Amino acid sequence: MANDLSHAAKELGIKYFLVSYVDLFGSLRAKLVPAPAIGAMQKTGAGFAGFATWLDMSPADPDLFAVPDPDSLIQLPWKPEIGWLASDLVMNDELVAQAPRNVLKRTMMGADSIGYQMKTGVECEYFLISADGSRISDGADNAIKPCYDQSALMRRFDVIREISDAMNTLGWGCYQNDHEDANGQFEMNWHYDDALVTADRHVFFKYMVRTIAEAHGLRATFMPKPFIDLTGSGCHMHVSMWNGEENVFSDPDGELGVSELGYHFIGGLIHSADALCAITNPTVNSYKRINAPRTVSGATWSPSSVTYTGNNRTHMIRIPDPGRFEFRLADGAANPYLMPAAVLATGLDGMQNQRDPGKRLDINMYTEGHKVRGAKKLPLNLLDALRALEKSSVLRTALGAPVIDGFLKLKHEEWNAYSRHLTQWERDTTLDI
Ligand code: ADP
Ligand code: MG
Ligand code: MG
Ligand code: MG
Ligand code: MG
Repeated sequence: MANDLSHAAKELGIKYFLVSYVDLFGSLRAKLVPAPAIGAMQKTGAGFAGFATWLDMSPADPDLFAVPDPDSLIQLPWKPEIGWLASDLVMNDELVAQAPRNVLKRTMMGADSIGYQMKTGVECEYFLISADGSRISDGADNAIKPCYDQSALMRRFDVIREISDAMNTLGWGCYQNDHEDANGQFEMNWHYDDALVTADRHVFFKYMVRTIAEAHGLRATFMPKPFIDLTGSGCHMHVSMWNGEENVFSDPDGELGVSELGYHFIGGLIHSADALCAITNPTVNSYKRINAPRTVSGATWSPSSVTYTGNNRTHMIRIPDPGRFEFRLADGAANPYLMPAAVLATGLDGMQNQRDPGKRLDINMYTEGHKVRGAKKLPLNLLDALRALEKSSVLRTALGAPVIDGFLKLKHEEWNAYSRHLTQWERDTTLDI
């Protein structure tokens, strides 16, 4: 049986399985299960104490079980005796309502019941930094405009190549790798797929990049803004919507080749953008990427207003090609499951309520943005975004109260921890007051 993991272990020479899940903060948790135990584990799931991870649970709650999804199996290309598995969390024989992968699956099932399947592609930018995290790893990577810098890219060929080869061994269709706009920053692109497949790959990609970087004595970070004067790391998400074989965002007669349904979906994102921001830009640090001052390269590459455009990289949403759009807001801290779930939920709201995205803006938002009247600004910090999420009936209704409430509770605690922290900036500006 293709879905029998003990059979797969024998067939593929897998000796251990990582039975994993992602919590509300996007942290990857796992148990390492020897192959002879996987048969039983596949039925019952691997046990975890949920409160010990970011799931808004209590020590009084019963055990949590991570039931592996055999369709997600990935044999580690750099260590083929290990098979990685994404899991669905179950407690008291019920799917855990706030578990991110469950939230995405539930939202996708809701869309499927009215005939829509979302496909996504993500661009996970990251920095290669020194093992202690203090600086970028390549001292010679110091050009003012380092984007696509061939020499800096090739000085990291051994790392990039290993990741790129791994993606192709796994059949992801990696089609390009490059040096991005910040010193020390890279991006690797693979083909879009069904939103759940992409989300599982997104989780695995981050794990793989970190692991391979570490094996080369480096460290990889997806932190949204690790260096204040350099461009931050985004996680752009490309979106199309399908009804079976038909891309329903595609319309040769629509503006820029996008259908009315596609524009309504974009209208939904624009309508809920400030609340969406809490999910797609979920850390204190995220707000130093959006709304950022100019960087040494001259641009931040991230949006600051809730606007859309054609093939122009200064807005929140860009339509680069017919039949899809790019959501440029999300960053490297976004939860790989909650991000597409929230985008799907707010987009569906737009489709169902025929939300008008307004007029496309064909201007350079960085230099001419101040001339635009009525364009909403993005939240300036995590607290503003959390408050917007609190008020969003669209996200609460679509994703469910348990995930929204759990996420808000834990993120408010994070905000409070940050507020209690004393920064050097405060001392510099206030000591002599
Ligand atoms: P850019 O840097 O120009 O924004 P990239 O080539 O880095 O674009 O990334 C584009 C992503 O969009 C890839 O993951 C690609 O597979 C994905 N993509 C392309 N077409 C579609 C589509 N119709 N639906 C969803 N994703 C798509
Ligand atoms: Mg124990
Ligand atoms: Mg790209
Ligand atoms: Mg990029
Ligand atoms: Mg992009």
